[in-house]
Amino acid sequence: MDFSMPPEDHPARVAIRTWLAANPEPDGRALAVAGYVAPHWPEPWGLGADAETRLVIEQELAGASIAMPDNPIGIGWAGPTIVAAGTEEQKQRWLPSILDGSTFWCQLFSEPDAGSDLAALRTRAVRDGDEYVVTGQKIWSTWANHADWGILLARTDPDAAKHEGISYFVLDMASEGTEVREIIEMTGGNHFNETFLTDVRIPAENRVGDEGDGWRLARLTLGAERLSLSEGGVLWGMGPTTGDLFAAIAAKGGLSDEVDRRRAVTLHEEEMILRLFGYRILTKMMHGGDPGVDASIRKLLADLHGQHVMDFMKNLRGPAGMVGAPGEHAAERDVWDWGFLFSPALTVGGGTTEVQRNIIAERLLGLPREPAE
Ligand SMILES: Cc1cc2nc3c(=O)[nH]c(=O)nc-3n(C[C@H](O)[C@H](O)[C@H](O)COP(=O)(O)OP(=O)(O)OC[C@H]3O[C@@H](n4cnc5c(N)ncnc54)[C@H](O)[C@@H]3O)c2cc1C
Repeated sequence: MDFSMPPEDHPARVAIRTWLAANPEPDGRALAVAGYVAPHWPEPWGLGADAETRLVIEQELAGASIAMPDNPIGIGWAGPTIVAAGTEEQKQRWLPSILDGSTFWCQLFSEPDAGSDLAALRTRAVRDGDEYVVTGQKIWSTWANHADWGILLARTDPDAAKHEGISYFVLDMASEGTEVREIIEMTGGNHFNETFLTDVRIPAENRVGDEGDGWRLARLTLGAERLSLSEGGVLWGMGPTTGDLFAAIAAKGGLSDEVDRRRAVTLHEEEMILRLFGYRILTKMMHGGDPGVDASIRKLLADLHGQHVMDFMKNLRGPAGMVGAPGEHAAERDVWDWGFLFSPALTVGGGTTEVQRNIIAERLLGLPREPAE
């Protein structure tokens, strides 16, 4: 592991500071055109930046409090798959608006009977001339109710082996026959949805990769998703952080209870381990490596840490922490209540903790693979 941070005179640091001086309040479009939204993507979409340059750019943008385009699924995991497997025409069509956030993306993979065992999916896509006719049901589709486009897995060959009959599509969410129903969660809010597809026509030009190559592309997407979520930190970057927890404790004059103090130290240790593990992944990437199974380890640790932080805050708040309840007073609840109620989802979304453990067991520890069906 390399602990030294890129120097002050790193060429990328000098370049972005010069650019920010000329563009002090860049919008999504300006950031995308400059290649700063996903600098690690190849040109012209990014800058073909190595991990060190990417770190420098992220540091500088965060330091200047620059708001990045809000399109996590588009930028985090749909985009990288299109970069890797899309045709030139598909890249020209979708990547600019993914990067500048002018289109919003969702992921239509999971089904009622296909979550961890995603390859069991049953949504059908039947070729009809220049189109596919798609019928099936998706579930847990995050932000599908706001999305313009969705990445979709569907079975094009029901007679092929389970992993081989799947294809990868990009769905215009305004297509006739697409019905999105919101799911209200125990937070009282709405994060994900059910998506029903009835005879939805998708142009064949919206298929990414070859027919039957969907499982390979899905694995690319899922790898990018794991990395993206694990980089987000506590609550995948959607809520209060471990730093916010310690700031709240300090604002109340610290902790007097011995057990609480010990738990707080443990949380600090967990956070340090996560940070160092992040540096390890970065070091590996700086030397041209792929995060591989390390992304699963980091996601596993980060998700459990997120739950520990939320649980600790809930306990610290005592009876007052129990008052917030979903429903009528949902809007009045603060971010900690929301975080506590959302936190069970951390060890499920993006691949459950058990699935991450299976990956680590098989790919890192070399334990026997699960029996094939
Ligand atoms: C917040 C959130 C956002 C999500 N967003 C999206 C989205 O945008 N798009 C999308 O397509 N999906 C999304 N999902 C769905 C998510 O990918 C699935 O919930 C997840 O893959 C688990 O599938 P499942 O819910 O069907 O549970 P199941 O697969 O039925 O698992 C049930 C339990 O069995 C365990 N289990 C299953 N198989 C094994 C095994 N082989 N070994 C050991 N234990 C096992 C699991 O760990 C779990 O505890 C989201 C989920 C959450 C929580």
